[in-house]
Amino acid sequence: MATTVVRDGIIWTGGASPQVHARRDLVIENGTVAAIEPAFRGRADTEIDAGGCLVVPGLVNAHVHAGCSPHIRGMTEDAAIPKTGAYYHALGSVLTMGYQQLSRDEFAALMEWDCIAMLAGGATTIVEENFGGHDIWIELVEKLGFRSDLGLTYPNSVASIGYIKDGKIVMGDPGDIGAMFQAGLKLHETHNGKFDDRLRIHLSPHGPDTVPEEILRETRKACDRLGVNANLHLAQHLEERNTIAKKSGGKTSIEFLDSLGFLGPHVMGMHVTFVEKGDIGILARTRTNVVHGSYRKAKEALISPFWDFVAGGVNVAIATDSFSHDMIQDLRFAAMLGKIRNKDVGTPNASQVLACATAGAATALRRPDLGHIGIGARGDIAVIDLGSPFNSPVYDPLRSLVYYSSARDIRWTLVDGKPVTKNGQVLGTDMNAVRQRAHAAAERLWMLAEKDGLLPKDRFHHDHGHTH
Ligand SMILES: [Zn+2]
Repeated sequence: MATTVVRDGIIWTGGASPQVHARRDLVIENGTVAAIEPAFRGRADTEIDAGGCLVVPGLVNAHVHAGCSPHIRGMTEDAAIPKTGAYYHALGSVLTMGYQQLSRDEFAALMEWDCIAMLAGGATTIVEENFGGHDIWIELVEKLGFRSDLGLTYPNSVASIGYIKDGKIVMGDPGDIGAMFQAGLKLHETHNGKFDDRLRIHLSPHGPDTVPEEILRETRKACDRLGVNANLHLAQHLEERNTIAKKSGGKTSIEFLDSLGFLGPHVMGMHVTFVEKGDIGILARTRTNVVHGSYRKAKEALISPFWDFVAGGVNVAIATDSFSHDMIQDLRFAAMLGKIRNKDVGTPNASQVLACATAGAATALRRPDLGHIGIGARGDIAVIDLGSPFNSPVYDPLRSLVYYSSARDIRWTLVDGKPVTKNGQVLGTDMNAVRQRAHAAAERLWMLAEKDGLLPKDRFHHDHGHTH
């Protein structure tokens, strides 16, 4: 029997009816929550001091693309993107070059550095939609001890989902998408449930516009047959909207997928920004889940209608997507931008956004054992220090977390009761060594991209646009 005790924290249980327990001990035995009590006197293998800390269910980062972020940060944030496009279109060429030109060791370093940010950002479960290097990701799940739901994205290259060439969005050759779908099924067969069930495999069609209708239908059948989820980008940008409207006689992406019988509680739709009349009703009726990435969309000067989903009865999870992985920052953006869009300071509130990142995600993953702290739930926990000059003294712990904390305040994360991070350090790796390898890989890629004219030659003095 392995016992972990998290002592003296303020416990927010999450789940269907969240409760706050001040100064309790949380006991995890053999990976599951065994007790919440005032003073645990039994023997423990791992003791964690959570005095002055908030203890919450481990956060679920419900949508990322590992290996797509570290070398891309800062490259195009303030730059124009085509009106119909998304942020990633501007980066497609450099991302593609990374997949093609970096060695396996270089790419593995970037992916691990990316993963370190996700774990230090508060996630205990990471939902990964993979564009390459899935074997590296699987090794990281095994080595670093976190929980992951992994899908092989089809089509499986960044170029095939669109990039900018001569000012226009173009699509690269997608290759054999049917074969990639089969590879995803195969991965489910060989890897689902590995590492004491810390790894699960789902299907990952990229989007309604990039996957042929026939393969979307096959995906739905496989979901029913195997009980797996299908995660896809949905109503993400106007390029997608226009493509679907053209081929479906004017339907929205959501109407189109509904007409195929694709939607349901096994579907997680990422972004869901451009919704039109009736779309939210379809999502609610089919119990399709939405994954909200507020910070990523804000960089595109967009707010997805987060509050309309919640108010309309649609289950919502929270994700950083790419480029930044601080889950607390995404909680704050979800709350703040939701208030602005809703013109109401009261909605969404702190506990509502935290519920989305915990219980909402667990519902989307169809994992009743995740997203809450209760007897029998998995021992996936985040411990956040509420004693900094920015977030204390604490009148309301959830508001201190959402409005005044950041990932740097996270003291511990645990998965199955075992520590994964401590004070921002990911415990299963040598972070300094990974940092050096990842930085070197990025520098070499930038040099190659400058040579090819994909990036400006003098990167510290490139055009930063207007100043007023
Ligand atoms: Zn994505």
